[in-house]
Amino acid sequence: MENCIFCKIANGEIPSGTIEETDLFRVVLDVAPATRGHALILPKAHYANLYELPEEMAGEAMKLAKRIALRMKERLGCDGVNLIQNNEEAAGQTVFHFHIHLIPRYKEDGQKIGWKPGEPTSQELDAIKTLLT
Ligand code: AMP
Ligand code: ZN
Repeated sequence: MENCIFCKIANGEIPSGTIEETDLFRVVLDVAPATRGHALILPKAHYANLYELPEEMAGEAMKLAKRIALRMKERLGCDGVNLIQNNEEAAGQTVFHFHIHLIPRYKEDGQKIGWKPGEPTSQELDAIKTLLT
């Protein structure tokens, strides 16, 4: 897709800190990392988000995420890893080419990735369950 920076990075048209490349994906270091080693899994083909990503690609992306997470544990000595994947502006997506963030976590890294826990009533939970089942 024209003018998509992640298409260009994933296909090697723009140099990047590549840490892994497969037929379908490139894994690169984030230029503005949340923590040391923050990486992005990018499909080489353009899909705007998870909704557009073919199921088989979603499976391959998760297998790749597992491999890189284990590598981060082994080689960076991180204490944990967050996988984050944002879809649409309301969810914090800023680059509209599907990607998975792999964020190594270190005790005392000072980052906060989370949410304020809600307090739904059991009726509200039941109603949502009905909608989503
Ligand atoms: P999101 O907010 O989920 O769309 O994440 C976009 C991510 O892409 C952010 O963490 C940015 O720091 C990162 N990013 C933007 N441009 C580049 C680039 N040229 N190379 C590597 N990472 C980038
Ligand atoms: Zn793209």
